[in-house]
Amino acid sequence: MDNHNSNFIKDIMIKDLESGKHSKIVTRFPPEPNGYLHIGHAKSILINFGLADEFNGLTNLRFDDTNPLKEDIEYVNSIKEDVKWLGFEWDNLLFASNYFEEMYKRAVLLINKGLAYVDDLSADEIREYRGTLTAPGKNSPYRDRSIEESLELFEKMRSGMYDNGQKVLRAKIDMSSPNINLRDPVIYRIAHATHHNTGDKWCIYPMYAFAHPLEDAIEGVTHSICTIEFEDQRPLYNWIVENCEMESVPQQIEFGRLNVTNTVMSKRKLKQLVDEGFVDGWDDPRMPTISGMRRKGFTPESIRAFVSETGVHKGSGAVDSQMLEHFVREDLKLKAPRTMGVINPLKVVITNYPEGQIELLDAEVNPENPEMGSRKIPFSREIYIEQDDFMEEPPKKYFRLFPGNEVRLKNAYFIKCEEVVKDPNGNVVELRCTYDPETKSGTGFTGRKVKGTIHWVEAAHAVPAEFRLYEPLILDTAEDADGVEKSFLENVNPNSLEVLQGFVEPNMKESRPQEKFQFFRHGYFNVDPKHTTVDKLVFNRIVSLKSSFKI
Ligand code: ATP
Ligand code: MG
Ligand code: MG
Repeated sequence: MDNHNSNFIKDIMIKDLESGKHSKIVTRFPPEPNGYLHIGHAKSILINFGLADEFNGLTNLRFDDTNPLKEDIEYVNSIKEDVKWLGFEWDNLLFASNYFEEMYKRAVLLINKGLAYVDDLSADEIREYRGTLTAPGKNSPYRDRSIEESLELFEKMRSGMYDNGQKVLRAKIDMSSPNINLRDPVIYRIAHATHHNTGDKWCIYPMYAFAHPLEDAIEGVTHSICTIEFEDQRPLYNWIVENCEMESVPQQIEFGRLNVTNTVMSKRKLKQLVDEGFVDGWDDPRMPTISGMRRKGFTPESIRAFVSETGVHKGSGAVDSQMLEHFVREDLKLKAPRTMGVINPLKVVITNYPEGQIELLDAEVNPENPEMGSRKIPFSREIYIEQDDFMEEPPKKYFRLFPGNEVRLKNAYFIKCEEVVKDPNGNVVELRCTYDPETKSGTGFTGRKVKGTIHWVEAAHAVPAEFRLYEPLILDTAEDADGVEKSFLENVNPNSLEVLQGFVEPNMKESRPQEKFQFFRHGYFNVDPKHTTVDKLVFNRIVSLKSSFKI
């Protein structure tokens, strides 16, 4: 994370190094490959990789792939790509599924110690027997079966003799514990399913609560950083490490999840948006996924700066989504070339400009970063401006084009609207204007002033382009900080995407997918990698120019 800020996790690490408890910090980022990474994961990535880096430690990218029903190699690949794109390098690429044999042995050890038993109760019965916060649980009638019997049954579970759900292996802890997680949690279940890594080798799979501490201990992870909802599981985590006699003892540390306004963040919900066609894939620019944000045009730098600003705390309030926009604006300000793009074009004929003449005008590439130099833009008798930059009957204080008014064309000349051409239905289809050669941009003309400056593109060389403008995908509510489920589909914004047509400057023809520009007055845009073709450039608006947001 931010090198200059202290936080409580960093303090624990410093203490552990100073006391000699550890000589090297080892962390891991442990995604389950059941979906694409989102901005919340970026926070976990920054904390795990960032802190280990700071102490010259190690970070594993470990796939927590213990549930074959939901996992897929597509997700594994996307997660690797996203971690790299965010700018991090893992020391080891690991899969929890490669420890299945080891985990099985540790489960057998627990049985042998009288600390685990095979239970025949159904899932519903187990839930019922578990009790509630106010009522203690009841022992399963199978809790006292002999060690020998449990060993035999567990082996039969492994060999495929039972159906899904017929039996489970449970840790034998305490059915009256005030911490429900300790009421004989299920640690193995039967699932006849093909695993993306181990294929059909296994039909029993360890539960997350059993697997995760073992994975950490096997890898020698020193600080197992997770989100706050696992706080109540910490006693179980420690129980498993201890009773499975793991040599290396990791410490679980919890921090508050990142939540962002107007955003749902759980992979399950994001998958639902994809599966039910609300968006065009996990990388839809409206998605809070890393791949969606990349496609929209966010940079790794802006995401890292944003996450860093949110800090490391135990609490988890929702961060304003405008803060994300603030950071991408800041990042692109000096990097993105300026250019002009006309959305919803209106033809303008400059009647006193010589027919057939083309001149090349000079324009700065980025006034805020003079090192980026200048570009040439053609100008001629016919140009496009935006329909929105003309009004036949303007209200007061309208300074753009209207009959009889004069405006400045950015980087060019003053033009004055002399005549409005309409089609038979009364729609304005063309403006006839005159220009004043004296007013050429860059010549220092001071003869008179105009109040409006509008942008334009020369008509004969204009390059067709599509502009995709986005609004939040989710209206008003953020996901609850405590992860409580809400019906979020009702909050999906039906107007989150607007697709508009127009033109861009001819020198934009060469732009490549993922290149970013600032279109004069419209904001920052990214060349869409999915929809851009040789015939048509498609630009995703990353963010508009102005915001009232303050850090
Ligand atoms: P989701 O509920 O979105 O599926 P998850 O926690 O189940 O998230 P994992 O694949 O287990 O997803 O996540 C890998 C790591 O990322 C975990 O350590 C998890 O705690 C962390 N993480 C997930 N979401 C967030 C978030 N919103 N803020 C911070 N860390 C997160
Ligand atoms: Mg998880
Ligand atoms: Mg999850």
